[in-house]
Amino acid sequence: MTTVFWFTRDLRLNDNPALNRAVLDSQVSGSNKVVGLYAVDLQAFHELSGIRQHSLTASLNALNASMDGGLLVRHADSVTELPRAIGEVVRAAGAERVIATRGFDPASVELQNKVGHYLASIGVKLFLEDSIYAVSPGTVRKPDGTPYKVYTPFYKGWMALGWHKPSPFNGVDASGMPTMSWVKPIDDLGAPLPTKESPIVVKAGEAYALRSWERFKKRALNNYSDDRNRADLSGTSHLSHALAHGEIHPRTLLAELGDQPGHEVFRKEIAWREFYGDVLWHHPYSATDYLEPRFSKMRFDEGALAEERLAAWKAGKTGYPMVDAGMRQLATTGWMHNRVRMIVASFLVKDLHLEWQAGADWFEECLTDFDPASNAHGWQWTAGCGTDASPYYRVFNPVLQGIKFDPRGDYVRKYVPELAHIWGAQVHEPWDIIGGYAHGYPVPIVDHAAERDESLKRLEEIKLPKPALPQK
Ligand SMILES: Cc1cc2nc3c(=O)[nH]c(=O)nc-3n(C[C@H](O)[C@H](O)[C@H](O)COP(=O)(O)OP(=O)(O)OC[C@H]3O[C@@H](n4cnc5c(N)ncnc54)[C@H](O)[C@@H]3O)c2cc1C
Repeated sequence: MTTVFWFTRDLRLNDNPALNRAVLDSQVSGSNKVVGLYAVDLQAFHELSGIRQHSLTASLNALNASMDGGLLVRHADSVTELPRAIGEVVRAAGAERVIATRGFDPASVELQNKVGHYLASIGVKLFLEDSIYAVSPGTVRKPDGTPYKVYTPFYKGWMALGWHKPSPFNGVDASGMPTMSWVKPIDDLGAPLPTKESPIVVKAGEAYALRSWERFKKRALNNYSDDRNRADLSGTSHLSHALAHGEIHPRTLLAELGDQPGHEVFRKEIAWREFYGDVLWHHPYSATDYLEPRFSKMRFDEGALAEERLAAWKAGKTGYPMVDAGMRQLATTGWMHNRVRMIVASFLVKDLHLEWQAGADWFEECLTDFDPASNAHGWQWTAGCGTDASPYYRVFNPVLQGIKFDPRGDYVRKYVPELAHIWGAQVHEPWDIIGGYAHGYPVPIVDHAAERDESLKRLEEIKLPKPALPQK
């Protein structure tokens, strides 16, 4: 009996337990045939930015190459059509079961439920196993069984539970010869063609991810604790695209980490991804709503001026060099340094007084590493309405952050050519330089010090009243 494996956010062959189960299933049934299926929602695809479109297509093409052309891609006009598109493949294959990696974010859960119901209606079972995390959301819990909302105790619980070792792909033998075959019982429509331009050629795929990991281990892992916050250095792994598309599993990375300081800090960053996955699983509304509901009552700006400011932020024309460099890095590469993500997010919420969702939507449109949990909670952490313990009072100063994390100004000069004529860290304060605006760089759209005060004033308005003293 042919088995259908439905690829989702696990576009790899190795360390993919759900795929190994599909291969085993086909071997036990004696067919040794697996359909490796990816179903594209064309409507969602067309809404993506050019870079994101190219990034998905590159990932699918790379997966197909690693399967010697065996990937079957089917298209659906919208998300509601996806179950039927998958059902067509199952019918054509005469399969009795579909196997996939379990998704935990709200959109994946909803889709898997719909696909599961549709398949059940045609007598086919959907089996879900494993996840995109080392420890699946919902597993790490406090001793009383409730979930964690604070990172550090979560991290301790996560470490105590541990995870299993990576498992190699079981569709090949020890010498690399295939032990099963990929089959296509219906026309392969191929990876969707991007409808928008991308300013870069996106590199993707499992082999590329493994090479990037090897390079990072040699080049930067040992210095990771010192360099990871420096926007001007390449001190981080750049593996977020691969992790978001499942081209590499975090188990593969964790298995090679030791106790050295760089390794320890890197493990902690992987754990942030796991923590946010867990928080979103327990609080699915927080994908788009305030984790801390009282913040929805805060006064935010609306109207023409607010729209104009949002447009300036998106275009990297706020007049704050570090913010603008980050937004332009995002637009031209589909990625932004973590420290700079925090700076631009703080600026949107606390200097421009816009709601975090406006920024998160823009990130979703542009980031090739978009992840529903890390994005929503990265934003909420910075906006102060999320999982941080002492949140809203922290307002990032975009100039001081620039001087600290881009001390020579190289990062700003790279992405903001209008400032390329200014040497060193002075690039963070063009208003102090004669000729600072000679090449058309915009003046600041707001005054940071004044907006910081305004932001804290608005916080006062939603502060909970002090509990009444007990009556004598
Ligand atoms: C406002 C905001 C939005 C964000 N949106 C996303 C997103 O959509 N997708 C995404 O993958 N990350 C997101 N992050 C987290 C982080 O910025 C990126 O994971 C990181 O910059 C990716 O670069 P890297 O792979 O070189 O990271 P490295 O420093 O090499 O870290 C290795 C991996 O650990 C994980 N990681 C590292 N830092 C974090 C973090 N703070 N939170 C969660 N996971 C982390 C990522 O999977 C990353 O690839 C966001 C952060 C903020 C502040």
